Formats: sequence, structure tokens, C-alpha cells
Amino acid sequence: MPIGLTPTPAWASILGMNSTSKVQDIHGRGDLPFPTNLREFQRLFPDDAACAAYLEKVRWENGFECPHCQSPREPYRFTSRPGVLRCKQCRRDIALTAGAVMERTKMPLSTWFWGAYLVSSMTPGLSAVQFQRQLGINGYETAFQLLHKLRAGMVRADRDRIGGPDYPRDHVEIDECWIGGATRGEGKGVHDQTLVIAAVEVRQSKPKDGDAKLRRGGRYAGRLRLQVMPNRSAKSLCGFVEAAVEPGTMVVTDGAPSYATLGERGYQHLAVVESDKPEVAEDYLPIVHLVFSNLKSWLAGTHHGVSPQHLQAYLNEFTFRFNRRHYPFNAFRSLLGIAGDAVAPTYDGLYTGEWKHPALPLHA
Ligand SMILES: [Zn+2]
Repeated sequence: MPIGLTPTPAWASILGMNSTSKVQDIHGRGDLPFPTNLREFQRLFPDDAACAAYLEKVRWENGFECPHCQSPREPYRFTSRPGVLRCKQCRRDIALTAGAVMERTKMPLSTWFWGAYLVSSMTPGLSAVQFQRQLGINGYETAFQLLHKLRAGMVRADRDRIGGPDYPRDHVEIDECWIGGATRGEGKGVHDQTLVIAAVEVRQSKPKDGDAKLRRGGRYAGRLRLQVMPNRSAKSLCGFVEAAVEPGTMVVTDGAPSYATLGERGYQHLAVVESDKPEVAEDYLPIVHLVFSNLKSWLAGTHHGVSPQHLQAYLNEFTFRFNRRHYPFNAFRSLLGIAGDAVAPTYDGLYTGEWKHPALPLHA
């Protein structure tokens, strides 16, 4: 069963826009319109010029100002190059997509906008094949790369650790699972499977509408973090907890010895013994197990399984959708790559494995 990602008209927001690697907070930019349905999207963004005008408005709330000479004179605009403005004073070019995920792309701005809209408005997301068909893109590789560029815009470099003092009555469930992998090769056991760890906030207070599907015994899910793990050592597992969860938070894990030092590391730690028994697990780690079950269905259903090399990118997308399930329009804005310091993968980087999908840094 998919996670409840039904769009609601509620949005309030934070959007970081990156022009010269400086993150611009446009919280409260009520002057920027957001499409709430397909018809509105088509009306707001009919062509490249409309998309360019939108990006211009995002960047200069009170009208154009040249970043080179600070001239406020209306710049030149070119029909043939809608993503570029030229200052009338100093004659220098200003790229509207500088620093964003869509920078240095040959793809039309309208394709980017359409892609970002589809990805943020379709409840379960799209596979590269569906995306290619919808956007009328020629090659599968181009669609695949565009989706990965959008996924790179789904991770904020400065994301907060979850848990923490804002929610003293709540706790964080932590658990691992194996993803993927038909058993291949010799012998019994697990082959080609990847270890994934999750940390999810569990809140006790009154849930908002739309949280119902993740409610278990009055508890419901807050924010999520997911990461591919190299192994189940204390260094890996505790390293993830330290990178993902605020110290001082009550964390619930299974009884694995690798988690034994969480108390010394500053967490209130509840280790559940006999967590291999279903009824015990259901009592203590219900939300994280529900997240894993949804994640597996999504990977198998929408994406028909993913390679270990790109799994972290899909975990990032799943987390992005999960954490914004009540705010689809924030998702749309973030996806335009206006968000944070997103650096996008190149085609070669994706195929050679040189590109590393964004993940939390682990020190332990
Ligand atoms: Zn200028």
C-alpha cells in the first residue's frame, strides 16, 4: 500500500534559491504562483519564456538588478535564449539557471518545469520510461539522466537532524532492512542485496489530516531519513544515528549489539530484545516497518527494482516525497533546482559510478 502522499492545498514554505551558491530564503513569497492542477500549470508555464520570467521573479522579488554592476535597468531578453538576460549597462550575460540543477543543460526550460511538475504531483513518482513518454523525450538515457538531476535537487545539503527538543514527547524508531536482489550465483543466502537503515520520527500528538495511513495505535510518522549502509558494524549504524538524529532524543532500536553505545553517545536508548518476534516488533518498531514495506512496494512497483549503484538516489526521492507529503508545491519548487546547493550528476558520472548520490556523512 502506498504512503499517503495525497496533495493538499496547504503549503507554506521554505525555498532556498541558489544563485551564486548563496542560499536565498524566499519564505513567504506569496507573489509567486504555484499550479495546483494541470490546467493551471499549462496556463502559468505555456512556453520557455514564461518559465524564464518565473525564474526571474524568483530571483529578483523587487525587479531586476544586475549581479555584476547592480544596474536596475531592464535587461535585454532574447527569444532564442530565454534562459539568459543581458545587462543594458555592463552588457554582461546573466544565466537564470546559474547554480541550479538545470544549469548548463540543453534541455528547454519548459521541459524542466514540466518534469518537475510531473515528479512532484504524481503520487508515487514516475519511472524513467513513463517520464520519457510523458515529456516526449527521444532517448531513455536522457529521461533517466533528467530524473537523476531532479533527484539531486531533492537533498538539501544543510538538512537538519531529526528528533530533538522540539518534540519532547516523541521518539525516533531506527531499524535496518535488506533491499533488492534476486538470489544469484552459488549457494544459499543473500546475494546482491543492499543494507538500508531508516530513522523515522514517531509523534504522539494529534495527527494532521492525511497522516491516517501511517497511524499505529495513536502514533504517526514525522520526518524520515534513509541511507545505504556498508555493513552492520557499530561504526556504521551508530555513525548513521549521529548524522541523522539530534542527541538527547529517545531512540528505539532492536537488540543488535551494534547499537549498544548509543547511550554513551548522548541518546536516550531503548533496545528492544526479542524484536525478531512479530508481535514485539509491532509494539515497538511499527512505523519504521511500515516505511520499509512501503519503500519495497514503491521500488518494485514504480521502478521495477533498482541497481545497488543508484539505490541511494531512490532512497533520497522516497524520503523527499515522504517528508513533503503534505506540501507538494514545496516539492515542485525544490525540484526546479532552485533548492540549496544542489549539484547535478553528468551522464558519464552516472554511468561510470563516479557520481556519488548525496548521503549523510558518516563519522564514528
Ligand atoms: Zn550590469
